[in-house]
Amino acid sequence: MSFDQVIVVDWSAAGSPKLGKDSIWLGHATAAGVSAENIATRRQAETRLSGLIDAALQSEQRLLIAADFAFGAPIGLAQTLTGQPHALALWDWLAARITDTDRNATNYRCIAAQMNGQFSGGGPFWGNGQKDETLGLPRTKPAHPPELAEYRTAELVGRESGLWPKTLWQLAGAGAVGAQSLTGIPMLHRLRARSPGKVAVWPLEPVTHAPIVIAEAYLSLLAPEVRAAIDQGMIQDEAQVNLHATAFYNLSQRGALARLMAPDHPNDTLQGEGWYLGAGAAAAVRAGVETLVPPRLRNDCFAMPQGVAWTPVDAALGRLRSALHPVTGTQTIPLQNALGQVLAVDVTAQRANPPHANSAVDGYGFFHAATGSGICQLPLAQGRAAAGQPFTGTVPNGQAIRILTGAILPQGVDTVVLEEDCAISETAIAFDGPIKPRANTRRAGEDLAQGATALYKGHRLRAPDLALLAATGTAQVQTYRRLRVGVLSTGDEITSHNAASHQIYDANRPMLLALATGWGYDAIDLGHAPDTPTHIRKKLDHAAKTTDVILTSGGASAGDEDHVSRLLSSEGTLSNWRIAMKPGRPLALALWHGIPVLGLPGNPVAALTCALIFARPTLSTLSGAGWVEPQRFTVLAAFSKSKKAGRREYFRARLNADGHAEVFASEGSGRISGLSWATGLVELPDNAVEITPGTPVQYLPYTGMGLT
Ligand code: AMP
Ligand code: MG
Repeated sequence: MSFDQVIVVDWSAAGSPKLGKDSIWLGHATAAGVSAENIATRRQAETRLSGLIDAALQSEQRLLIAADFAFGAPIGLAQTLTGQPHALALWDWLAARITDTDRNATNYRCIAAQMNGQFSGGGPFWGNGQKDETLGLPRTKPAHPPELAEYRTAELVGRESGLWPKTLWQLAGAGAVGAQSLTGIPMLHRLRARSPGKVAVWPLEPVTHAPIVIAEAYLSLLAPEVRAAIDQGMIQDEAQVNLHATAFYNLSQRGALARLMAPDHPNDTLQGEGWYLGAGAAAAVRAGVETLVPPRLRNDCFAMPQGVAWTPVDAALGRLRSALHPVTGTQTIPLQNALGQVLAVDVTAQRANPPHANSAVDGYGFFHAATGSGICQLPLAQGRAAAGQPFTGTVPNGQAIRILTGAILPQGVDTVVLEEDCAISETAIAFDGPIKPRANTRRAGEDLAQGATALYKGHRLRAPDLALLAATGTAQVQTYRRLRVGVLSTGDEITSHNAASHQIYDANRPMLLALATGWGYDAIDLGHAPDTPTHIRKKLDHAAKTTDVILTSGGASAGDEDHVSRLLSSEGTLSNWRIAMKPGRPLALALWHGIPVLGLPGNPVAALTCALIFARPTLSTLSGAGWVEPQRFTVLAAFSKSKKAGRREYFRARLNADGHAEVFASEGSGRISGLSWATGLVELPDNAVEITPGTPVQYLPYTGMGLT
């Protein structure tokens, strides 16, 4: 049971148009990912769903619509009302009676009261969230009529997973579903009637051949995942529809939905009462979720060991490396959109490359055993084998056949001789043997066998990778959503335009935005904040909602005017790292509402160095692509330097005509021209060194740190 699209509907029985929490939400999962939309009225939702159904039919896509209300009632209701024990009979009955307007005014309470009239006692329906009484509809639970079952089988089965779905009977109160069913069933009934034969309701009727399948969902199945998403600031309804749509879509792609759609219960039960997708199989649904919302970073992820005055660069890097993990969710996207995306799972070859043994050259193919040393003459068989035009017969032993590059080796051919090495007549070829067995052929799967891992989780897809995945039959990939990197400049003196004489132009922001873009992230310009806690707080609060990680520059030390670190330490979880490195000692690392903040120094030279050495591997890890090291080459120095022990030093450098590293004349941390002059950095180790021309040093080219 495979679907190209899944829509999950969080329905609402609200009595007036409503958006936001507890209103109607649609979560739509396709190969391009998942998105949610919020709809104010039931009429609008019906129109929207009709449109989505039409679009799916038009594009010949198979669509699953899963809605979160009971599609049937416990045994007895349909029978009493309609004379038939089928949920679809109940659908007809309800659709003929329940009305709704484009302002969400509905008569479902009256119809419930009418149904109550058919049974003993005051029920079975109860609950009324309105001031007005509805005659025949008790506010609190009445004694349940003994002639009706109280629960549906699916509701009881669900309890095994610790879930207690409410029954259709309850029309109001937390978690009640009855009102949604009474208003939702007539809507689905109309969708089904609009496209006869195209829309089928699972499991009330056979769905195998229907392009559009409607099924019942229970949106508490993924409660833990939904809770995690709410912690991330999502609205509950949005999280529910997105997560369930993602799960059903992924299970469908993996061929695992068929199992869920074949519960081990009699057809009478399934068609009489309905069933929700995943009843008694919550774990199976959960397996489809993936890490739509990955765990947050731990609060202490940036903590440094106490009592350490200066942290060596390697210790700081080691600490970061062990504390960080990917923070973005995953998505399934078409291969053609996947350039630069990071794989969230290993990808195996769906098909061998090449799928069949084939010829590597234009020439003549034959069975090797028929040849020997010296001149070999072989009569030519009729026909030829070309790429895309296989020869389907068998080449007799001792004969040769014309074969072209890429052609599948026909039966009877295991070796190919190059046409340039042959004397050729109308009826035969001759060549000078011996020829090696399997010469000029490619084995099936010699590049990659079917089922072999083509690429590993964490790999950032480049052009050749797309070729590899396409060749091995992968059309969609599961990737991490692209990391959103916010960039904020701080400082009273910083501006981007019309600088007054006391101001300077913002150099860091364009640089850091460009770095983030070049590294493959969504760079988000957070602008500039003057040195006041209020302004910085406002920027960070906004950024915490729109980004996955924030880079700030300026104000990161521990001085009077270092407002970023002051704010982060009073309201975030700041760890001020004093790193034994030059330039760029202060590095403020913090979480702001759970979002990591890297406070880089304000000096552009220090900001770039810290970004290359610390931010680059940090962002890479957060993005799912794993820790990265700069590329390093040992080259000879073209300069002299006497360096003391106790800190690592980086110099703006480039290679001269001899391939030796020269360094920028000034070490001034504000000398931006040196950054631009350089093609990389020279790194001198933590200990004392004496460099003279010819001493080997480590050169880290910009290009090896992802600078484009
Ligand atoms: P701070 O880290 O705020 O003490 O700033 C250190 C130095 O870097 C000061 O001279 C700042 O004016 C300068 N600076 C800070 N932010 C920027 C920026 N965005 N562009 C250029 N220079 C900056
Ligand atoms: Mg400043």
